[in-house]
Amino acid sequence: MPDDVRPLHQSAPLIDPFARAITYLRVSVTDRCDFRCVYCMAEDMTFLPKSEVLSIEELERLCRAFVRLGVRKLRLTGGEPLVRRGVMTLIERLGELLGQGALDELTLTTNGSQLGKHSEALVHAGVRRVNVSLDTLDPEKFTAITRWGKLEKVLEGLAAAKAAGLAVKINAVALKGVNEDELHRLVEWAGAEGFDLTFIEVMPLGEIGADVGTANRVDQFFPLSMVRAKLKERWTLDESDYATGGPARYWTVRETGRRLGFITPLTHNFCESCNRVRLTCTGTLYMCLGQEDAADLRVPLRASDDDELLDAAIREAITRKPKGHDFVIDRRRTAPSVSRHMSVTGG
Ligand code: SAM
Ligand code: SF4
Repeated sequence: MPDDVRPLHQSAPLIDPFARAITYLRVSVTDRCDFRCVYCMAEDMTFLPKSEVLSIEELERLCRAFVRLGVRKLRLTGGEPLVRRGVMTLIERLGELLGQGALDELTLTTNGSQLGKHSEALVHAGVRRVNVSLDTLDPEKFTAITRWGKLEKVLEGLAAAKAAGLAVKINAVALKGVNEDELHRLVEWAGAEGFDLTFIEVMPLGEIGADVGTANRVDQFFPLSMVRAKLKERWTLDESDYATGGPARYWTVRETGRRLGFITPLTHNFCESCNRVRLTCTGTLYMCLGQEDAADLRVPLRASDDDELLDAAIREAITRKPKGHDFVIDRRRTAPSVSRHMSVTGG
């Protein structure tokens, strides 16, 4: 059936075996990145050959299929979504779904390096919020963590995002011995800039190499219970009922009025309310960030111009969404519990 005669939201929504409605799709539009963050990638990453990666048109078709099946929120991620060639075209086309009322939100998670260039166009396309990853405000530490990044460029990107009217949430990975001493500064800075801030625990995803003293994630792991305890020494944290259906729990910092989130996938079980699935740039659908099971949507996508096979493959995949994950970081087990990198499935 051609797209223009197909109803935008076709009959039965996507409901998984645990009665969770799937309304949120995260799409990793590329596995490539202009940074090499130490907890995310090895320095000498081998990226996917271009032939395996979906075209911009194919990514759009897949996103539209999910929206037709009831997805209301799309988040583009990566790798670095804004280094993917043609990504702004994809964002503009998906932005049309907002105008049509078929989608509630189109957003992205970015390292911020390209926001100087793209913020205005993002707003023009209908993007209202972005998550920007920033773990430190110290230029030297920033380059040590990202290996290839420059803090100044990200700060410029943030200024451009703000000027364009984008709401910004900063994501900071809590790293033992690295940004442990900057927690108060990050809260203060985010408050002054008008940004929300979320701390994330390191997750055991993918081999990361053994350089810069970060040989394994046991060394990097800094539990957020400790982050919170430290922050409470200086800030008044009021528990907030703000919820996104995601893994973050939120507080409000009374002194700054900004939201403060904690994503604790390892120490807190957030799976019961999970409404999301993740698509990679090769068309592989992961029903859970912490499990290996996946469905190949590239084959049904390419098998015909009609979306019938694709819709059936998506529905079948959702019947396999597991109840939850089983991440573990412990001292006896240094291999990652899930071998793919975060840059494959996106954050
Ligand atoms: N490049 C973009 C960025 O950095 O925001 C989007 C992709 S990145 C994989 C998404 C998020 O995952 C970032 O906030 C990053 O800090 C986080 N991340 C990457 N590897 C991680 C890991 N092993 N544990 C926890 N968070 C991780
Ligand atoms: Fe790139 Fe984001 Fe991974 Fe850093 S966390 S290497 S910016 S994909």
